[in-house]
Amino acid sequence: MADTFVFEAPRDCPALPLVFDSPHSGQLFPPDFVSSVQPEQLRTGCDLFVDDLWGAVPSMGGQLLHALYSRMYIDLNRAPDDIDLLLLKGPVGEVNPTAYSERGMGLIRRLALPDLPMYESRFSLFEIRARIQQYHSPYHQKLKSTLDALHQRFSGVWHIDCHSMKSRGNLMNIDSGALRPDVVLGDNDGRSAGADFVDVIEQGFVRLGYSVVRNSPYKGGYLVRHYGDPENNRHSTQIEINRALYMDEQLFSPNQNYAAFKKDLCTISQQIADFVGCAVA
Ligand SMILES: [Zn+2]
Repeated sequence: MADTFVFEAPRDCPALPLVFDSPHSGQLFPPDFVSSVQPEQLRTGCDLFVDDLWGAVPSMGGQLLHALYSRMYIDLNRAPDDIDLLLLKGPVGEVNPTAYSERGMGLIRRLALPDLPMYESRFSLFEIRARIQQYHSPYHQKLKSTLDALHQRFSGVWHIDCHSMKSRGNLMNIDSGALRPDVVLGDNDGRSAGADFVDVIEQGFVRLGYSVVRNSPYKGGYLVRHYGDPENNRHSTQIEINRALYMDEQLFSPNQNYAAFKKDLCTISQQIADFVGCAVA
């Protein structure tokens, strides 16, 4: 089976219990993806360049996991049973659609964009389970085993789930039409990570002049809710960065600020790595 993700271990330095993951930066589609939605429209849902922007993390002792396949095929930041009933034909079985599915953006997208259906026909639960098995499960198994091994070795683990956001939300977003800040940190209102960890991330951005908001409009998705357990020293925080900072949102190409922004993320990553290093020293 083809690789569905890339995992980069720490290089040229000792490992820290620090894991970054980018579940939405992949752009591949398997041959069984059949949709009349145009490639530019599919790209709007992806976190283009996010894996590259955080690419210095392994040189600081962190691990970096990123998906190769598009979230428009299957969304790794959704529970495997967050399945939209309007996509299904035949027996429904065990599904648990959340508000994401209601908005057309559950595990398998019903809508590519507002009023733009992704598919012309429905799926059997068997077809959806095949996608889960081939693309969703391997990513989560890798992330879980990495977090578990680090937690066992260091008695604590710090995870950052990396995303990007359009500079203005569309009708499928809960903040439709609103202009967004530079950065949104999501820790599920303090339930997925210790406050000191989130403070370090926020201060890193603020010191470099970026505007940061916590938990609005994004509190953190399935990944941070599923893996964060601060009472057991497992910390998960979501970082959403505003695409206008580093890319042309219409052309899907890096803008002139790309290199400078990547350098800033490198500075912030080092501060996060220093925090984690001190926490386990
Ligand atoms: Zn994302």
